[in-house]
Amino acid sequence: MQIQPFSVNDGNGIRTNIFMAGCPLRCKWCSNPEGFEQKERIGWYKKQCIGCGACAAVCPQGIGIDMISDSGNCIACGACADVCPEEARRQMVSVMDADDVIREVHRHRLFYSYSGGGVTFSGGEATSQPELLDCLSRELYDAGYSLDIESCGYFDFERVRPSLERMDLIFMDLKHMDPDVHKEYTGVSNGLILENIAKLGTLPQSPDVVIRIPVIGGVNNSEENIASSAAYVHDVLPSAKMELLPYHRLGMVKYDALGLPFGQDGFYTPDKEEMKKLRSIAAAQGVTITDFR
Ligand code: SF4
Ligand code: SF4
Repeated sequence: MQIQPFSVNDGNGIRTNIFMAGCPLRCKWCSNPEGFEQKERIGWYKKQCIGCGACAAVCPQGIGIDMISDSGNCIACGACADVCPEEARRQMVSVMDADDVIREVHRHRLFYSYSGGGVTFSGGEATSQPELLDCLSRELYDAGYSLDIESCGYFDFERVRPSLERMDLIFMDLKHMDPDVHKEYTGVSNGLILENIAKLGTLPQSPDVVIRIPVIGGVNNSEENIASSAAYVHDVLPSAKMELLPYHRLGMVKYDALGLPFGQDGFYTPDKEEMKKLRSIAAAQGVTITDFR
């Protein structure tokens, strides 16, 4: 989806985030909907469009300026994004060769070494392309990079284990303790995620682990859910820290650019006071609360 250098929120020091497309979940609050599928995507940011028609002039599919109404015919060739003078057409997901990804990471090597940073694999879902994750993490690990990963936790642990064993820090999400509510809002039950959190304790290098709760007002912000989430983490992986992140609506514009329905109207962002209270409820279960944001 993107290679984002100079990130400071997803691990220690200055890091390059590699956002890999494809996700087995469909969280209703997702801010990266372009990453749902492993498929090249072009978006149209209407507010930036000046109606010049350059995109329509080069489109091999005969798609006009309003590409959303004809997006079924788009082959994601990227020709329109190349000529758009306003960056109103943007390549949101593209195919990249692993060698090119590694070359891009090497470009910022100096910043990692001075800041104690490295590379963070993210998504979409970083484990949804296990062969690519294995290849990239092996090459970068052998080259001496610090590696972190952010995951939704829904993956075949043994298949991904070799990659996880190269990580210094693992962020894993825990969105709800109730399996039915979890399924209602993410499309899957939480059983595999809970299992995988416990299995992180079997990794031989004992990486730092941060279990993240994206706190979605109206979904998982009850004191009971936060307390039971923290109690579970403390029980199965006492060394893990937890981070509670308030819901945001920054991805709303991407739904519009892709012509996808934005179904998040019932959610709200907990205010600072509520977040403070929820963090103290989690801490009362014995876990250490951390904050990378
Ligand atoms: S090229 Fe860009 S600015 Fe011009 S009409 Fe197309 S999307 Fe709009
Ligand atoms: S990506 Fe290619 S096919 Fe799709 S709208 Fe742009 S020019 Fe047309």
